[in-house]
Formats: sequence, C-alpha cells, structure tokens
Amino acid sequence: MSKHKFQTEVNQLLHLIIHSLYSHKEIFLRELISNASDAIDKLKYLNLTDDAFKKIKFDPRIDIHFNAKDSTLTMSDTGIGMNEADLEENLGTIASSGTRDFVKKMTGDAKKDSNLIGQFGVGFYSCFMVADRVEVVTRKAGEDKAYRWTSNGLGEYEVEPAEREESGTTVILQLNEEGKEYADRWKIEGIIKKYSNHIPFPIFLHYESVKHEGEGEKKKETREEKTDQVNAASAFWKRPKNDLKDEDYHEFYKSISHDYEDPAFYIHTHAEGTLDYTTLFFIPKTAPFDMFRADYRPGIKLYVKRVFITDDDRDLMPTYLRFVRGVIDSEDLPLNVSREILQQNKVLMKIKSSSVKRILDELEALKKNDRAKYDDFFREFGVPLKEGLYQDFENRDRLLELVMFKSSKVEGYTSLGDYLSRMQPDQKSVYYITGNREENLKNSPLLEVYRKKDIEVLVLDDEIDEIVISSIDKYRDTELKSVNRTDSANDLKTDDDREREKNIAPVIEKIKNALGDRIKDVKASTRLSDSPSCIVADENDPTVKMQSILKAMGQKNLPDFKPILEINPDHQIVKKLADSSEEPVIEDISFLLYEQALLIEGVELKSPAEFVKRLNRVMEKAL
Ligand code: ADP
Repeated sequence: MSKHKFQTEVNQLLHLIIHSLYSHKEIFLRELISNASDAIDKLKYLNLTDDAFKKIKFDPRIDIHFNAKDSTLTMSDTGIGMNEADLEENLGTIASSGTRDFVKKMTGDAKKDSNLIGQFGVGFYSCFMVADRVEVVTRKAGEDKAYRWTSNGLGEYEVEPAEREESGTTVILQLNEEGKEYADRWKIEGIIKKYSNHIPFPIFLHYESVKHEGEGEKKKETREEKTDQVNAASAFWKRPKNDLKDEDYHEFYKSISHDYEDPAFYIHTHAEGTLDYTTLFFIPKTAPFDMFRADYRPGIKLYVKRVFITDDDRDLMPTYLRFVRGVIDSEDLPLNVSREILQQNKVLMKIKSSSVKRILDELEALKKNDRAKYDDFFREFGVPLKEGLYQDFENRDRLLELVMFKSSKVEGYTSLGDYLSRMQPDQKSVYYITGNREENLKNSPLLEVYRKKDIEVLVLDDEIDEIVISSIDKYRDTELKSVNRTDSANDLKTDDDREREKNIAPVIEKIKNALGDRIKDVKASTRLSDSPSCIVADENDPTVKMQSILKAMGQKNLPDFKPILEINPDHQIVKKLADSSEEPVIEDISFLLYEQALLIEGVELKSPAEFVKRLNRVMEKAL
C-alpha cells in the first residue's frame, strides 16, 4: 500500500466544492456518470481505431447499486480504466494548469467562490460532498493489474493492488449524513432522468423489489433483485440529419416542448471546427401562452457532451427569440454548475451568437421561398421579433429585412424592402402613420395628401411598432418619416404651398390667439385635402400614441407635450374664417378645428361639454 498527499490545489478545490456547492450536492451523480461515459467513449474510440484494443470485449454500460442499510452507492463502468500512474495523475492532482491557476485565485469566501467554481467541471472530487470515504477499484484496458484508490478527502489518499475481473472502473461511496438520501431508487432515477437521460450508453439501476404476500401467520415477504435501464441512452440531436425524418423531429419536439402541435419548422446544425457543438431549434406554430409574461419559461435546454446542464436559463437565447424551443449541446464547455458564469462564458456566447445567425438565416430563407408560411410565422411572432430591433444591434440590419408592417396600399403585411420597390420615382422617404386602429389610421386626414399623390404609407397600429419605429431612422439609405410629425410634410412642399402659407398668416394669428397655450403652434398644412385641420407632434416630441404608451408603462411626471395644429389653406372653413371679424365666432371655430382634429386622433377631449356648447352655437348660426 502506498500513501500519497493530494496536491495543494486539490485540497483547496475539495474545500471549495464542499463549502460552495453543498446546495447542489446531487450533481455528484452527474459528474460520476459523466466520467464513466467519457471512459467508455475513450475505450470505444480505441476499440474502433487501435488494433491492440480490437480484441477487447466492448460492452458499454454503467451499473449503479446502492444499499440503504450500509449507506453505500456503487457505480461501475466498462470504460478505459486507470493504472497506478493514471490514478496518481488523475485523482491526486489537478492536471490542467488553467484549472490550477484558477483554484489559486479563489478567495476562500464561499459566496464569491461558488459563482466562480462553475467555470470548470468540478468533476470527481464532488463526491466528497456526499461521502466521507471514497473507494475506486479500477483496471486499465489491455493491462492485467487492478488497483484500489481510497481517500476520505482529508489531504491524503492510498493506492494498493486489487482484483477486478474486467477492465473498467468501480467507484464506491460510503455516504455521509448529507449523502444518505441518495441510497434510494427513486432519488437516483430522478437525478439520472434529469441530468443524464441522453448519455449515449445504458445506465442500469439495480435494486431490490420487496413483495408482501398472504395475511397474518402466513404473511410472506419475497425479495427480488431487479435491474432497470433508467436513461433513454440516445441523444436525438446528435444523430446525423440524414437518418432523421420530419416525423422524428416532430416527436422529439413534442417531448421537449409539451406542445401537442407539430412545430412550424426546425433547424438542426452540427458545427465542427474551432468549436464543436450541435444545436436543434424548433419554431412552434403557435406562440407559447406565456410569451408576453416577464416570467416566461425559457425554451432552450443546455447540454454539455450530452449531459443536461439547465433548462432554466433565459440567456441561452436573446429575449426577442424567446419562443424558440430546442437544445444546445456543446463539446467545449465544462460541465457547469453556475448560471451566473454561463452568461459570461465565451464559448457559450459564441454558440449563442452563431445560433441567432442560423435562426435568422432560416427566417430569411422562409421569407424568400414560402411567403405564406412566413406570414403565418410573423403573425405569431412578429411582435417579439420586432423587439430585436432595439435589443440586438449586431443583427439589426438583418432584422430590418425580416420585420413587416401593415400598409395603406396592400392587404396583410409588407416588408420594408417591398415598400422600397413600390416607391414613387421622386419619393424621398418611407412614410408611416402610428396610432390605435388600422381602420382609423387608414382613414386619417393625415394621409390625404399621400393618397392624392399615390404614395404608400405604412400603417403602424401595434404598440410595439410605435416603440420600434422611433429607433429606426433609415432603412437601407432611405429615411423613415412619421406622418404624425411636422417635418414629414416638408418633403412634399411645393412653391404653391409656400405661397398659400404666406396668404393665410393672418388666419393663423387669429387661431393662435384663440387657442393660446393649448397648442405649440399653428401651421399651414400641406398634407390635407378634404379635412380642414389635423394635429401632429413636433419633430422631436413623442406622438399622442407614444405618450399614452409611456403613461401606461407607469411613466410619471411626463411633461405635457403640446401638439401642433395644422390647417388646410384650401378648405372653405379656413377661407371663410379669414374673412370673418366676429370675435366670438372666430373663437368657436378655432376651438372646433382643434377639437375635431383631436377626436380623429383618438384623443379624449378635456371638456366634452364645452365642445358640445360650441358646436350648438355654430349650428344655430348656420341655420
Ligand atoms: P474531468 O473529468 O473534468 O477531467 P475529474 O476530476 O472528474 O475531471 O476526473 C479526473 C480524471 O480522472 C479524468 O479526466 C479521467 O482521466 C479520470 N477518471 C475519472 N473517472 C474515471 C473513470 N470512471 N474511468 C476512467 N477514468 C476516470
């Protein structure tokens, strides 16, 4: 028997694991299974590639036994095994210098360290969270001798010769007070199903089934040894795409999403190169019920080398793609325990950013090749997708090609690209109107001039549109302009308009005097043809609709943004007002021009009673 001391950093790591990760102690089982699976993977490779190993029987399996009475848990694998030198190198030191340096940097403050420790796989040593004595009996494939490694995790370990019939490794845990609960069939099964269901080798759980028969004196108890395979043993997403049919994907989707419908489409990617990973994403047909809740359930499961890590991390997808369901499986990440760390992990950040690009690729292709299907997708997920315009600046240009809006000229949706292709030869900007209802907007006086000149206007009736559009100044090289704002009409101004503007300066003065500080300004309109007046927002002020959104979002102390009143110089009411000198009539008409413009915008009048009185006075006069 030979006694050895753990490398200093192993002691530090052990201390750290025990003090920082106790609330996650069940992960020891995942770590042991993952090691066993790796060991089988290694033998599998040699078995396939090295003549010396081809003779060795390859029977991949992991077996778990437990004994509640003795508080033991035993895991055996038929993997590559270890010899004496391997044991010393693997279970007494930390081989990776990166990990060693990392451990050295630990502060000793359990709270701070527990966030850091997730940066690497805690591995084998995690079993000392649940065991006060660990025994490893192992024999390396192709060698005759077996060895026993034992330690209580307190600074030292022993290695001695042992017996083991076949190559492989057996880990025997003498469970401590905290670990006793794991000598239990359901507990073990639950953890395996949660974390290791997709380990590609079968995991067998051995247990004793106790049957009670008969009554009273004749009561008999029979005990029977049973073995169940507890994992599914296949990582669906790892299978080659050619082997899988649409139906297979649909079934798998349902098993991970709890959706009863087939997905709209799926995207399966095996990436190899600087990073090795597999992603399988699904776009549902119908939006998840909680898509607009702040506490929505994230749809992506993260695996590392087929070992389940988490399905509760909202950062695996950008928020605007929160409806995507599926799996990310990385070969390069450490088995990770800390979510805080996942967010800053460079490997994961790269996978995430490529995943987003893949999803956008697919959406672009769909939009190009199957517009009807894309429209269906957009109806369900257009709103979250539009959020991307202010969340994801890296992909903003691509998102601008994908988002769609309603329009004054076409039924259904149009993209900005389509709009551009329909623009008038001398048209300078993309025009849009924002407000509450498609119907109202399409009939708004603000659109009169555009209708007359046959210029298309995007109709933005969704709340998100108002927020999103104000962050887009340009599409490709064309400016976007809100017809609800003053400056949009400047584009369309002719010399004629300028002449008329001069002529009605006196009327404008009259109205300004009557309305006082209710309005910011009164201007001659170039956009009206049938209506006498309209209101618009000043260039940098929020529109009426935007103000109501801000209020609904709880914005208090919102300054009172006053609208600009535009009047139609060609309208009879305006012309006649110019000729009138009857003070009370001028005042009533001024108010009515202003109030009708508010009503058409969907703004509630401050005093409907005053409005009605004015209306009645004018009606009486007209008769
Ligand atoms: P990691 O798995 O991240 O390398 P561990 O601390 O879990 O770190 O394990 C250290 C090393 O011990 C492994 O890299 C492997 O070489 C060896 N090892 C652990 N468990 C087994 C096993 N069941 N069979 C063979 N080798 C093992």
